[in-house]
Amino acid sequence: MNKKDILSLSLDELKIEMEGIGEKVFRAKQVYEWLHTKLADSFEEMTNLSKNLREKLEAAYCIPSVKMLERQVSKLDGTNKFLFQLEDGNVVESVLMRYKHGNSVCISSQVGCRMGCKFCASTIGGLERNLLPAEMLGQVYQIQKISGERVSNIVIMGTGEPLDNYDNFVRFIRLVTDENGLNISQRNITVSTCGIVPNMKRLAEEGFQITLALSLHGSTQEKRKNLMPIANKYELSEVLEACDYYFEKTGRRITFEYSLVQGVNDRDEDAKELIGILKPRNCHLNLIPVNPIKERDFQKPSRKSAEAFKNQLEKSGVNATIRREMGSDIDGACGQLRRRYVNK
Ligand code: SAH
Repeated sequence: MNKKDILSLSLDELKIEMEGIGEKVFRAKQVYEWLHTKLADSFEEMTNLSKNLREKLEAAYCIPSVKMLERQVSKLDGTNKFLFQLEDGNVVESVLMRYKHGNSVCISSQVGCRMGCKFCASTIGGLERNLLPAEMLGQVYQIQKISGERVSNIVIMGTGEPLDNYDNFVRFIRLVTDENGLNISQRNITVSTCGIVPNMKRLAEEGFQITLALSLHGSTQEKRKNLMPIANKYELSEVLEACDYYFEKTGRRITFEYSLVQGVNDRDEDAKELIGILKPRNCHLNLIPVNPIKERDFQKPSRKSAEAFKNQLEKSGVNATIRREMGSDIDGACGQLRRRYVNK
């Protein structure tokens, strides 16, 4: 018999489960607290429950494991990169970044990715499988336990396309922001998408206050298509409409992400077209000098040229920042740590 994943259940669902195994409803709250605030990895640890109940739980349920395989610590800025192993042997990576305003964790939403963006290491081996809500939570919980520091911000910008794993992703958001759990503020969560239009609209209707980041990377439909296969499915105009809809519904300003690739999308003309797109919108632009991966020959522009690109946008009233590079002495770029492991 396959045991049921107890970590992915809401408190209300857990109440129904407890009744189902002949337990009092209030036990649900205790178990939930062990799982989501005391971050227990096993039923054995739940010492205020009777031995009998712990055995019952053990027999019917599992807590999908997320085990640390490797941890790299940057000497430059204290960034930590983690490689975690899942129950089935697959591995995912996550990053802990320390900022003045708190600790931010970047998590993966899938094992691998099927979106095929040209400059991204995460997509090279394709999609292996979706992550469970429990496995997204597990990355945050383990990092909080290992570091001994509270996580206050989450970005879903690791390996995978979160909106390609929609239901599990939404369940994860509900659980991680639940006041009975870690209770992370929705305003401190950012989800990044390559632009899966129907699910961007669905997300707008969930009633969340999370920030939506849209990976733009090209300033016209044609240029976007050259870097991102998903653009063959959804036109740039549709993607932008979905962003506007998200803003309208949630009041949350959209973040646009734009990876600068030397000679490909960092020219004068690109900046002008970008201004055309972004100026009329209440948004923020995050410029990411591309992180070269060995499988492709994309190069990042010089610091000076990236600054010039940014200044051109700012002069026209577009709010832009160049993303600070963190942990550049460790396997920093998306999916590089996992790829190194998988290649071995
Ligand atoms: N699937 C989501 C999350 C991906 S990672 C998405 O597409 O948005 C978060 C961001 O990093 C995306 O904007 C992605 O395009 C970008 N990215 C991926 N690989 C990169 C690289 N090698 N250099 C710079 N940015 C990269």
